[in-house]
Amino acid sequence: MTLYLSQIRDQETAISTLQRALRSDKLHHAYLFEGPPGVGKQLTAMALSAAMNCVQSPEACGECSHCRKIRTGNHPDVKILQPPEGKRNILIEGVRQAEEWIRMRPHEGKAKVLIISPADAMTESAANALLKTLEEPRPGNYIILVTAAASSLLPTVRSRCQTVRFKALSSSTIAELLLASGVSEEEAALLVSLSCGSMETALQYRSEELSGRIDIVAALIEGASSRIPEQALSAAARLRDRGEAIAVLELLLFVMEDLLNARAGVSVSNGLSLKFGDLMTKLQRGGSVESVATHIAAINRALVSIQRNNMNPQLAIEGMVMNMRSRTKNEYWSRIGAK
Ligand SMILES: [Zn+2]
Repeated sequence: MTLYLSQIRDQETAISTLQRALRSDKLHHAYLFEGPPGVGKQLTAMALSAAMNCVQSPEACGECSHCRKIRTGNHPDVKILQPPEGKRNILIEGVRQAEEWIRMRPHEGKAKVLIISPADAMTESAANALLKTLEEPRPGNYIILVTAAASSLLPTVRSRCQTVRFKALSSSTIAELLLASGVSEEEAALLVSLSCGSMETALQYRSEELSGRIDIVAALIEGASSRIPEQALSAAARLRDRGEAIAVLELLLFVMEDLLNARAGVSVSNGLSLKFGDLMTKLQRGGSVESVATHIAAINRALVSIQRNNMNPQLAIEGMVMNMRSRTKNEYWSRIGAK
C-alpha cells in the first residue's frame, strides 16, 4: 500500500495543500476529503496520518514502527471509524466511542487521527454528536472526514472542516493501476471506459460477471432491433435479481450514451459501442440522434421503475425492450415512406 503523500496519483492540488500545511506546521484540526469514490481519499488520509506520526521523515519514511503500524492498520493512535460490518450507517454510539478514544493522550505517536469514512454514513444524531469535538479540538487531535457525497453532510459539520477536493483519476492512471494488478490489456481498456475516473467503479466491473453481462446487453440490443424480440425476452427472464438487472441496464446505458455521442459527432468515445459493432449498426438503422435518445429514455425509465418503484426487474426490462422496438419500427416505416 502506498503510504507517501507524494505517491498519490492525479491529486496534485490536494496533496500540495496538505504538504504545505505539514511543512509549515499549520495543519487544520479537521479536514473534509471530498471527491468521487475510489480516487485515493482514504489512502491520502492514511498517508497524512503517517506523515504526522513518523519519527524519521516529515513525509513518512515507511520504515519506522509508526509507519509500519499505520500501513497495517495497527497503530493505536490512528483509527478509522466506519459502519459496523454489514451495516450502512455509523451510529451515535460509534461516534461517542471514537470521541472518548480521541480525547485520551496519544499512546505512542505524536498525533491522534480519527478518520471517518464514509462520513456521509453518519446518521444525523451521530453527526450532531461529533460537532462538539469538531468545535473544541485538543492539540494533537485531528479528524479527517472522507466522503463522496459532501452535500449530504450537515452544513454545521462541513463548515467546521477545511475542505480538500479530490478529482477523478485520469484514464491512463486507471489503466496503469489495472494492468499492474494483473488485468489484461483488453479488459483494462473496457474497465477504464466504465470507470468514470474511479478505481472503485473499475474494480466493481472487474468481475467474472462482466462477460455474462455483455452477452445479456448484446441480447437486449439484438431484441430491440431484430424482427423477433425472443432473444431479448429470454435475456430479461434471466434478470430476476434486482442488483444484477440494474448492473446490466447501467452497462446498456453506457453503450447507448457512447452511441449517442458518436451520432452527435462528439469525438470522446468510451469504445463500448464499438464492441457491439454489427448489432449497433442494426439498431442504428432508424439512424437519428433522437432514436438513440429515446432508447436512453426507455432504459432510464426501466432503471427508475426497478430502483425507486420496486418493479419486478423482468417486467421492467420487457417493457423497455418493447419501447425500444416500437421506436425502431416507427422510424423504419417512416423512412421507407409507409405509415
Ligand atoms: Zn516513519
